[in-house]
Amino acid sequence: MLRLFLLPVALSACALSAAGWAAVQPARAERPSSIRLYVFDGGTLESDVSRYELTKEEVGTTELSIGVYLIVHPKGVLLWEAGAIPDGSWTPTGNPVEQRIVLADSRERRVTMRKPLHGQLAAVGYAPADVTHLALSHYHWDHTANANAFAGATWLVRQLERDAMFADTPVGAVWPETYTSLRKSRTVIVKADEHDVFDDGTVILKSAPGHTPGHQVLYLTLAKTGGVVLSGDLYHYPQERTLKRLPVFEFNAEQTRASRRILDAFLERTRAQLWIQHDYEADAKLKKAPAYYE
Ligand SMILES: [Zn+2]
Repeated sequence: MLRLFLLPVALSACALSAAGWAAVQPARAERPSSIRLYVFDGGTLESDVSRYELTKEEVGTTELSIGVYLIVHPKGVLLWEAGAIPDGSWTPTGNPVEQRIVLADSRERRVTMRKPLHGQLAAVGYAPADVTHLALSHYHWDHTANANAFAGATWLVRQLERDAMFADTPVGAVWPETYTSLRKSRTVIVKADEHDVFDDGTVILKSAPGHTPGHQVLYLTLAKTGGVVLSGDLYHYPQERTLKRLPVFEFNAEQTRASRRILDAFLERTRAQLWIQHDYEADAKLKKAPAYYE
């Protein structure tokens, strides 16, 4: 049986602090000698395909996966994305728990949660304090939920994105209370098209604007798996790529088209795989933490 919660539009920042995190004391993991990529279960979002210029007949499923990823490098630990539902705002039951949230745009979102992020981190040996770096593809609500819990990490963000996040009235589907603590984080403003996080070419933030002003993707080079690009929201449904469709809510649709063309050339050149984070069927096939890609 699903439990329903209606979250208020404006939750106070303190309600979304790291409540609940302190209870978990993971056995601290040793840093491995080569990179590991852990894929976490961030829940499932029921979405409206018409907002992506698609029809139900064109997509395999209307559901979107919510990806959260931990990249453990010999020199540091990067969290990529922070989920859709803050851990402190729902109670795991062992069964799927449906959350309904209403943001400032008055549209209701339904997310089915199975596992809190902190428990998944603990299961691989990490507490939020062990995460040295935080990067988000962009600031929409389904990517920022637990960001406040990682305010102690170094935040890697582009200036245009940070400015949009902390505008008086942030534009788009946003949940600003989930990321207010980042305002005071140690912050690296990423200026280059490609930013080499650990200075060895294996973990690279790559600019891909359009969905939001400072949207970015993450390019990883793994010893066994090879090159992987984590898409952010450059695409949601894989049919956006095959049928050349765009979400109707892009910050700048022309920029998104250009970013897609540039990434296609990059994928061609590097032979990297593209993992579309919101692609439900592709995500379902990925091995989830505590298993990992290396
Ligand atoms: Zn998204």
